[in-house]
Amino acid sequence: MVLAELGGRISRALQQMSNATVIDEDVLKECLNEISRALFSADVQFKMVQNMQANIKKIVNLEELAAGHNKRRIIQEAVFNELCAMLDPGKPAFTPKKGKPNVIMFVGLQGSGKTTTCTKYAYHYQKKGWKPALVCADTFRAGAFDQLKQNATKAKIPFYGSYTETDPVKIAQEGVDTFKKENCDLIIVDTSGRHKQEAALFEEMRQVAEVTQPDLVIFVMDSSIGQAAFDQAQAFKQSAAVGAVIITKMDGHAKGGGALSAVAATKSPVIFIGTGEHMDEFEVFETKPFVSRLLG
Ligand code: GDP
Repeated sequence: MVLAELGGRISRALQQMSNATVIDEDVLKECLNEISRALFSADVQFKMVQNMQANIKKIVNLEELAAGHNKRRIIQEAVFNELCAMLDPGKPAFTPKKGKPNVIMFVGLQGSGKTTTCTKYAYHYQKKGWKPALVCADTFRAGAFDQLKQNATKAKIPFYGSYTETDPVKIAQEGVDTFKKENCDLIIVDTSGRHKQEAALFEEMRQVAEVTQPDLVIFVMDSSIGQAAFDQAQAFKQSAAVGAVIITKMDGHAKGGGALSAVAATKSPVIFIGTGEHMDEFEVFETKPFVSRLLG
């Protein structure tokens, strides 16, 4: 199910509820069941869907609502707010502060779009007058440094990496030190991805974090990974101090549930979404407009 379908299905469930002559327990139940089915098929975790159902039932107490109340609107608002709440971990992400060298570390599986996203993130801030720099601490994937170098050169962003050094921790440290000396205010460290959530990857991540002391660790997740989203996000959260999430490939056949699950698993907000392969196909994530757009 693509993201637009998830929204469409929820909207239709709400519409059907609205069309009922009388809104009673049965109508509400059917509406919530259909919304739950839509969320399940968009790969949202079972527990999250259950919580959502319970929360809405608590807010929409049909017996207590006086006849004059607009039950339709109350239910619609409750669903909207509940979807927003699922995307809101309750605390904002660290925002880089000008005038100091902010170190931002990117983590995620190989192929998630991590390297592309590092450049998009740097470019986003560069356009706003920041002085970003990119460090390639991915020595595992052949070609990772070339890719970062190519992207960085295109965007005229300074970069650091090595063709010969095999220790990512050493590169990360040298890169961050170099750019601190050059007064860069946004130093972005791209780490190695690997295919699986293997122990060696997490150990490497821990060591890179130890030497670079990032102000923010961003977890990059491909929106099309489906049911694996929650477990993958949680595994990264357990090994690194993930403080924000970027969801990539939202232009593709993205299942909307990934974003919801990643927030739940990392207790961190989504800050940007990737919407294409190009440098400027990158959007600041805002919960309410996102949910509004989802519901059409
Ligand atoms: P990494 O292995 O995690 O560093 O992933 P890459 O940055 O190399 O990206 C893997 C592939 O996904 C590349 O072909 C990218 O162009 C592509 N990609 C990254 N972000 C997006 C996105 O938001 N939308 C689309 N359509 N493709 C993306």
